[in-house]
Amino acid sequence: MPLSTSRRIALLTSASLALLAGCGSSSDSGPDSGGGKSTPARVAVVASTNVWGDIARRIGGDRVDVTSVISDPDQDPHSYEADPQNQLALSKAKVVVENGGGYDDFVDRMLKSGHNDSAEVINAVRVSGKTAPEGGELNEHVWYDFPTVAQVADRISAALAKADPGGAKAFTRNAAAFKAKLAPLEAREAQIKKAHGGEGIAITEPVPLYMTEASGLVNRTPAQFSEAIEEGDDVSPRVLEESLALFGDKKVKALVYNEQTSGPQTAKAEAAAKAAGIPVVPVTETLPKGKDYLGWMTSNLDALAGALAK
Ligand SMILES: [Zn+2]
Repeated sequence: MPLSTSRRIALLTSASLALLAGCGSSSDSGPDSGGGKSTPARVAVVASTNVWGDIARRIGGDRVDVTSVISDPDQDPHSYEADPQNQLALSKAKVVVENGGGYDDFVDRMLKSGHNDSAEVINAVRVSGKTAPEGGELNEHVWYDFPTVAQVADRISAALAKADPGGAKAFTRNAAAFKAKLAPLEAREAQIKKAHGGEGIAITEPVPLYMTEASGLVNRTPAQFSEAIEEGDDVSPRVLEESLALFGDKKVKALVYNEQTSGPQTAKAEAAAKAAGIPVVPVTETLPKGKDYLGWMTSNLDALAGALAK
């Protein structure tokens, strides 16, 4: 969804600066620094969300400094407007990872106003090659698509190597190790597909669709419902009724619920699902606290498989 049409919250307060403090905390053991005692200046990397930021850190190891513009699990990234602190980070960035697809247009705007035209900019949607389906809207939540994430990992590795040729080997090794850990996630999707392929689900927003589609599940939610929720618009009474009926009529096995975009209408969907005994699977747009990308996606698949098995 283009930010221009979204609700905007200008976060020019110190609260938004406090969010940044949490950005650097999720690296775990694993990334390879490439050895050598005297580490050169770290490569300045900015990612629009902590999802891409986590992946960049995993590939860059201790040769990078990563700033993630959005990392608050309680905030809807669609309605984010970035602040001066991030503006400064972007003006100095050597490598930038943006989502693209209209999700985080502020990144390009801020690069321009910060006169940074030398950064290597990786646009995940562009890397994915995904486009809007006939008559539909592009699903920009490409970090739920593991083949795309693998491709972006390679691009990040290449961009870092350009900025820090001494780390090239380490970046390649780290990207390969990361991609190897995506394979079990894809295998998990295949497993769900085998057990539950063709079963229906409902969603509140398109966030999880690449994952549910790869898992063979059929989204039965009226498009006007999920699109309105994502845009922050009202759902017409007819569409709402049609959406809520999915649960009572047992047309779906689970409701996959975006916790980061909720309101009275999604609450109604959640209540209807619960009343009908349909499991609710919460998902988010950004990393939950204390989780890295791989752990997060493992939990998402566990929750989905658990709900379908009920
Ligand atoms: Zn979204």
